[in-house]
Amino acid sequence: MKYIFVTGGVISSLGKGLAAASLGTLLEHRGVRVALQKLDPYLNVDPGTMNPFQHGEVYVLSDGAETDLDLGHYERFTNCVLTRQNNMTSGQIYETVLMKERRGDYLGKTVQVIPHITDEIKHRIRSLAAAAQVDVLISEIGGTTGDIEGLPFLEAIRQFQLEVGPRNCLIMHVTLVPFIKAAGELKTKPTQQSVAKLREIGLQPHVLICRTEIPLDEEVRQKLSLYCNVPVRAVIEAGDVEHTIYEAPINLRDEGLDDYVCEMLDLKTPEPDLSEWRKFVQRVISPKKRVRVAVVGKYIELQDAYKSIYESLTHAGASLDCGIDLVLADAEDLEKEGADKYLRGVAGVLVPGGFGDRGVEGKIEAARYARTSRTPYLGLCLGMQIATIEFARNVCGLAGANSTEFDPTTPHPVIHILEEQVGVTEKGASMRLGAWPTVLGKNTMAHQVYGQTEIVERHRHRYEFNMNYREQMEKKGFVLSGLSPDGKLVEMIELQSHPWYLACQFHPEFLSKPRSPHPLFRGFLAAALSHQD
Ligand code: GLN
Repeated sequence: MKYIFVTGGVISSLGKGLAAASLGTLLEHRGVRVALQKLDPYLNVDPGTMNPFQHGEVYVLSDGAETDLDLGHYERFTNCVLTRQNNMTSGQIYETVLMKERRGDYLGKTVQVIPHITDEIKHRIRSLAAAAQVDVLISEIGGTTGDIEGLPFLEAIRQFQLEVGPRNCLIMHVTLVPFIKAAGELKTKPTQQSVAKLREIGLQPHVLICRTEIPLDEEVRQKLSLYCNVPVRAVIEAGDVEHTIYEAPINLRDEGLDDYVCEMLDLKTPEPDLSEWRKFVQRVISPKKRVRVAVVGKYIELQDAYKSIYESLTHAGASLDCGIDLVLADAEDLEKEGADKYLRGVAGVLVPGGFGDRGVEGKIEAARYARTSRTPYLGLCLGMQIATIEFARNVCGLAGANSTEFDPTTPHPVIHILEEQVGVTEKGASMRLGAWPTVLGKNTMAHQVYGQTEIVERHRHRYEFNMNYREQMEKKGFVLSGLSPDGKLVEMIELQSHPWYLACQFHPEFLSKPRSPHPLFRGFLAAALSHQD
């Protein structure tokens, strides 16, 4: 078993997750079995209660774990199967250690960061390694070297490295090499300092992934090598990707990253064959067609809030040889100024998930626009609830229809709290989460799109369609096309008299991969393409 630890230097947002995932891609293409893991230094037990402004999207795994969005990269870039073991936070570590302390496991002892917290961290790394049955475990440490919260993780890695011995463990440091315009040159000092910080803690990085806006020349490489104590070969240039993040593994391969890593870890493997990956990237970069679709949300100014949705659109687009011109529409703008101004001319409307009532009326307006203009509509989670409210109000004449999440006293609670959620007051990991089966109605559009009647998709919600309204809505052409196997929960809906109007209570965006685009996104884009024509 080999271990790779990925640390970050200088600043955050350098794409550590992407670098870790890309290395995973390269190793898998060399026939190495990999698992990836994220170690998050913050004290929240999981990111489930954090606002997207703080943390970007919450990525949900099949087992219901609410995790960091980097796990989305891991799943999309590799075949590794992730569970809650693949994302640990300081909050979880402390929770476990304190529980043991209360139980009396440490009777007589003072409980300390070293060794108790660091032991728990190492224990979790080892348990994942044992469970995953892979050749290499890549563990990414969140945050930046020098953060107070990150220290116990780095200390744990220092000890771990000693325990597993050389050639079994490698540290890859992702760092920034800024270009200073006024001086007209790349500066290596920030990297020198962040590596010095690591060495203070007892960690010598083996590989530097240098994020840079312009190519590293020989002199800069030499300098980084000398001051940071790594061979020149281990100075890896990582420029900004030109078109798509899926170029990253190819670029790192060109820099010799995987060759070097395999050599350092004594992994005897053939060269990777990236031809399929390259083909996919090529299709993303130069598609034959283009289509304009809108995403109507309340976090559209945040790149990371709907990450998996944007990625899913990219995957589906590539499979249709179609590039996507995204129109990011702020739900609150639609609320104020109407849908027409923002959505006229788009070939598809997507309403993503969300919580809280801000922007809800704007999303309802978007759903109305898509229904009445016969524009393809894809509603995800909240997007299905929105479609339900819109139809109830404007087709069934149920004035004031709403979800009790937004209006607890609505006369028509067409969306209401899940029975299992009544009385749940805790907010952490308490939603209906993870993979659940759905049975699709025969001859529905959903059935046609999936090509099967039994599906399993990931969930994250507290509210659901209110079955008391089933009959009156069905009469008007609202189709409940997917139900939970017991028939109690509505998982998918569609409109009878619309060319393509589908919405689901689950999150299909967590199951799409470059090489296996999700049928709902593919169906949506295909419909958008024909709508456009
Ligand atoms: N807020 C809604 C619910 O809890 C939708 C959740 C979501 O979109 N993820 O049911």
